[in-house]
Amino acid sequence: MLIPDLPTPNKRLGQNFLIDPNIVRKIVALAELSPNDQVLEIGPGRGILTEALSRTAGQVTAIEVDSRLHAYLETKQAELPNVELVCDDALAYPVESLPMGTVVVANLPYYISTPLLFRLLDQRGRFPRMVLMLQDEVADRLVAQPGGSDYGVLSVMAQYAADITKAFRVSAQCFRPRPDVASAVVRLRMKDRTRLSRQEEVAFRALVKAAFAHRRKTLVNSLRDEGYALHSVTETVQRLDIASTRRAETLSVEEFLQLALALD
Ligand code: SAM
Repeated sequence: MLIPDLPTPNKRLGQNFLIDPNIVRKIVALAELSPNDQVLEIGPGRGILTEALSRTAGQVTAIEVDSRLHAYLETKQAELPNVELVCDDALAYPVESLPMGTVVVANLPYYISTPLLFRLLDQRGRFPRMVLMLQDEVADRLVAQPGGSDYGVLSVMAQYAADITKAFRVSAQCFRPRPDVASAVVRLRMKDRTRLSRQEEVAFRALVKAAFAHRRKTLVNSLRDEGYALHSVTETVQRLDIASTRRAETLSVEEFLQLALALD
């Protein structure tokens, strides 16, 4: 077979390839994989992480959007016997077709890390844990506690669904080309039980989004501006003992949950 040249990195697709085997080892160790595990990797790129996953897990599905890299990886298929190489956009790929219990391990394309996170969280019943490399700033938002500017919709929705640890930072030296932003690896362990039904979750997410839509305003005014009935919001926050002067970024996940259930 004609082996294609290693394609030149496409910055638009977030192609910053890991070159440090030590970081690869640390990522795989965090995922605690066994030969029975099914893994989803988003963006295998040149395959450095894919090879390590292939050696450690039972089966790997690796979704790469760049057809040049997909073709390159196909030439390595003999070394990756348990890897299914898929050429697709991970935002469009039907992740719900993957088996329950699939572990997600990926060095994510940073330009779409947030929508990918929401998509994966949406299917969290399928993915008991995820080990993800992403921008350090997004990692900080994932673990942020109330009170600071990092705390927002992503923090609340992710922490509602999972226990999250920021495991370690990764220097730009560990990539080629080097990314312009700092990177970090996080681990998400999905909670066995969450408090809301699917339908209640829809209302919860809408409420959290509306609460943070006008960060500088009070929670009550932000919700009013997003179409919630003022009298009902005022009466509910009063009943829950939430001061009407508070802004969304001061509410804990628990308080958002109570508010969503009470407003329902
Ligand atoms: N896993 C490799 C590594 O660690 O060296 C590459 C990681 S690189 C940060 C992100 C990879 O995601 C690139 O290979 C890029 O082409 C791929 N990618 C970008 N957008 C994608 C998308 N929408 N769906 C799937 N893969 C995507």
